[in-house]
Amino acid sequence: DQEGAALAIDDLRVSYGKVAALRGIDLRVERGEIVSVIGPNGAGKTTLAETITGFHDYRGSVRHRGAEVSGRSTSDLVSEGLIHCTEERDLFGHMSVADNLSLGTFRRGDADERRSFVYELFPALEERTDQHARTMSGGEQQMLAIGRALMSAPEFLILDEPTLGLAPVVLDDISDGLERIREAGVTVLLCEQNVTFAMDHADRIALLENGELVREDTPESLRDDDYIRDVYLGG
Ligand code: ATP
Repeated sequence: DQEGAALAIDDLRVSYGKVAALRGIDLRVERGEIVSVIGPNGAGKTTLAETITGFHDYRGSVRHRGAEVSGRSTSDLVSEGLIHCTEERDLFGHMSVADNLSLGTFRRGDADERRSFVYELFPALEERTDQHARTMSGGEQQMLAIGRALMSAPEFLILDEPTLGLAPVVLDDISDGLERIREAGVTVLLCEQNVTFAMDHADRIALLENGELVREDTPESLRDDDYIRDVYLGG
């Protein structure tokens, strides 16, 4: 059911000059699913995330709810509920937590309700509403970046390496938040280098290596895959 898929990618190719970053990717994400794209540095995860939200020219097809993303503006895609939480987090460092959240409110709807949802998800943010983003810990900043994305009422949320640089104890907060996001019915594409984290949350995993999708399966099946075990799960 292609029209029904949240995201349908066919033979996607993206290059930076002579560097082919994505070399013919096929991927479906159904509504309400969490699909994780894993792979080492430089595999093409960020390029894939950016292409879906309209940042790169591409060959092949990338359809969000049946419509090609090529040539459409970011605001158009955001208004359809496609929200990208980037690897850089892109917070406004000299602004407060509360103001960073307010700036995420790109879509119509009840901002107070969404803010309450964010504070319920991440109580650490509610304790720090007046604190400047730049003075927060890495984990708190990541919660704020996800919280700000949630202020736009995503229907499809792209999370690019939300666990990057975070201590294990902080991962639990991000994990809990992600499960609540799932319960809220949001479709998620999770780009992750942390394979264990990805396997704990994703319905399906897609492994990218050097711009190619080399595996696509459930976490359960991949845990029994010798190659995945040896290379990505430490044997
Ligand atoms: P990481 O986890 O390290 O961010 P990644 O899986 O997200 O890696 P990408 O950042 O998508 O991978 O990079 C894929 C390839 O494209 C790499 O070879 C990288 O050097 C190249 N690349 C990425 N961005 C650019 C750019 N703006 N200009 C030229 N080459 C780029």
